[in-house]
Amino acid sequence: MATSLPKTMKGVIIEKTGGVEVLQYKTDLPVPSPKQGEILVKNDFIGINYIDTYFRSGLYPSPKPEILGREAEGTIVAAGPGEHYNLKLGERVVYLGTGAYAEYTAVPSAKAHSIPAAIKPGVAAAALLQGLTALTLIRESHHVQKGDWVLVHAAAGGVGTWLVQLLKAVGAKTIGTASTAAKIELAKKNGADYMINYKEEGDSLVSKVKELTGGQGVVAVYDSTGKDQFENDFEVVARKGTIVSYGNSSGPAPPFSVAKLSAKNAKILRPTLFNYIATREEFETYTAELFDLIIKDNLDPSVHEVYPLAEVARAHTDLEGRKTTGKLLLKV
Ligand code: NDP
Repeated sequence: MATSLPKTMKGVIIEKTGGVEVLQYKTDLPVPSPKQGEILVKNDFIGINYIDTYFRSGLYPSPKPEILGREAEGTIVAAGPGEHYNLKLGERVVYLGTGAYAEYTAVPSAKAHSIPAAIKPGVAAAALLQGLTALTLIRESHHVQKGDWVLVHAAAGGVGTWLVQLLKAVGAKTIGTASTAAKIELAKKNGADYMINYKEEGDSLVSKVKELTGGQGVVAVYDSTGKDQFENDFEVVARKGTIVSYGNSSGPAPPFSVAKLSAKNAKILRPTLFNYIATREEFETYTAELFDLIIKDNLDPSVHEVYPLAEVARAHTDLEGRKTTGKLLLKV
């Protein structure tokens, strides 16, 4: 069943990997048809994630031509045959999928969730991927307890913004890093207890963390930067602590010798969100909890800017240029 749909749509397609110049805004892309187990969503707000830049640049491989974009919110306008988990035509949903930089996207129903009425337009698209990442990182990568000392790199970034808010809600003691005074202010406002400007105070980062934690180090370090902070992560982690290396904003973390972990009996993970929410049950449970937390604890994705879809290249430039805080959204 479907409402009356156009044949063509606006969207951003890339035919080859490269810089922002490969992002092509078009107005005549074919509207996709939902297949078995898929719904067709008319997107309102589209979430931009750093991963989009990796599929654009080729750091992560994916078939081309490709419409980028891993999450959006909008309205269900059609459904293919099969299981749809009680999602209804006309319902507002947020989803994780592919091809979100467009007016319409066909996505698996298993990765779509209805949006509670209490959540304002734009917030679900701003929250889903980065909020679920933060929630699963503090539950599954290392289950953070009240009173734990934790270090969050890029604490004013997209995932960082969620991490500091969720860690505050848990009662952890959070040390964050960021590169500018404005980013430091934002992370503090979001709940970071101490902030270090790693651009200016990079050389003293390890000693500062040791000093703040009474010489012990942090029980968990959440590192989205990859290459730049990797060596420091081994220094700041506590005995029996956990290094969670979950991103590459400064480049991929380098190979290392496993024997390096024996100095502190430390653990190290390189998790991805998708392996924590692989089943419908996992996706549904974590998404419902994230929405509850947003409503109950008044959590805020700190939207940096809502860019018109046609200005996606400017959004990628800002994100890769370290000019942004919190979440970047596209509006169709
Ligand atoms: P952010 O909003 O955190 O943007 C990147 C931030 O990283 C910048 O604002 C900057 O903050 C910091 N940064 C540090 N070094 C650099 C550098 N050399 N170039 C650019 N930025 C730098 O992005 P996201 O929250 O979307 O993603 C962060 C990372 O986490 C990405 O690598 C992403 O792919 C990964 N990620 C992984 C997931 C997973 O499942 N494993 C899920 C979601 C994201 P500052 O200026 O303060 O240093």
